[in-house]
Amino acid sequence: MIKNTINKHGLSCILCLVSFIFMGQTVVQQCKYRFDNYLNFKGSCNHRIEFQKEVIYILDSKGKKEFAIYASEIPMLAKFFANSSFAKQEKFIKFKGIKNLKATQRDSILAKLNDKKIIIRQNKLPLSGYRVAIDPGHSATNLMEAEIEQKFLYFVKDSINHPLDSVKLFESVLTFNTAQLLQKMLEEQGAKVLLTRSQNNFNSFNCTYTTWLTNHKDRVLDSLKNANVLPKAKYAKLMKMNDHDVFWEFFRDYELTNRAKVMNEFNPHASVIIHYNVDEKNEPWKQCSKKNFTMAFIGGAFTGDNLDKPENLVHFIRLLVTDELNQSEILASLTVNNFSNNLDIPKASQFDANYLKDNCLLPKSPGVFSRNLNLCRLVNSPLVYGESLYQDNEKECDALMKDDVNFKGIKTNDRLLNVAKSYYQAVLMFLKN
Ligand SMILES: [Zn+2]
Repeated sequence: MIKNTINKHGLSCILCLVSFIFMGQTVVQQCKYRFDNYLNFKGSCNHRIEFQKEVIYILDSKGKKEFAIYASEIPMLAKFFANSSFAKQEKFIKFKGIKNLKATQRDSILAKLNDKKIIIRQNKLPLSGYRVAIDPGHSATNLMEAEIEQKFLYFVKDSINHPLDSVKLFESVLTFNTAQLLQKMLEEQGAKVLLTRSQNNFNSFNCTYTTWLTNHKDRVLDSLKNANVLPKAKYAKLMKMNDHDVFWEFFRDYELTNRAKVMNEFNPHASVIIHYNVDEKNEPWKQCSKKNFTMAFIGGAFTGDNLDKPENLVHFIRLLVTDELNQSEILASLTVNNFSNNLDIPKASQFDANYLKDNCLLPKSPGVFSRNLNLCRLVNSPLVYGESLYQDNEKECDALMKDDVNFKGIKTNDRLLNVAKSYYQAVLMFLKN
């Protein structure tokens, strides 16, 4: 039985804050709120957008208007972007440009839309009819692949007193175990759950990186070259690269895009992206750290340069007109509150890591940061990208290596179970409110 430790007062404060923000705001002001609070990284997008009373213009790098969002169109646009594929969104932006769509055109677009987020209940369980996508981060579970992916800890903790006791943790194993626990908890409440990977050593193509290199690399690169997606010079370079460089120059982003595609095709009502953090000042992570902080990311923090890439512009417009970022802040705030309470770890502030100060915007909720990470940008649903704890913390690294807890047939430990419960409680509270 899971004890519900969510602070109900905390939730009502968040909901009050959100309704207060929206009370009396026009749809243009709501977009402006999202632009100011989540999207515009330190003013760097100021020259790419123009807010007027009844219209928002998106400008190209030379200041020419390239897309217009009229107030009368915003409810339709929000519905369209929440319920359409990236390919359709890209086509629509090109077609619409700065035209002001007539009421009949708006109605015809709405009539063709299938509201994918509609809830069809199958039974009385609280999450019946809801879909939750879970992405357990990374994929390496052996030292050879982990050396490439750089998401593992391997060191002797105390070389004088315990020279044979080493810390050996693969982030992919931790995230996958957490995802399995969370899946079990959500399914018991009636939710339909998707995991982007089917095994702890697999990526979202259902194989290891080594298998992908042997069986799929040449075919994938050939087809991308033939489709003119991959320039010939880059193709030639990739074909000669070693496995490490292929991972960082191509595979990492290619595979993350696939994770987002798999999640978006599932049309989730909420998405959970699971990661475990390290203390950045402890690099190269060959010893323990005394620090431990908890945090969660949501989308946003675009720079003006980001918008030069047409693909990014599509995501930017989607995040501007839909309420995904507002919803993500609620979900992320619930999650980070649970992490902090259930795991007894303080919430990070912008001064606790350089990437928080240098790459993120600070929405109002403590411990939640807007950051333009691939999945935060590509996944079309309210989401939380959780970094519950520091794996290299002196107490956590020991606790995380244990597998002394059995949760309904899944071997785990106390820390991972508490992380999974934190996500579960947050998703349940979020979807039910
Ligand atoms: Zn990670």
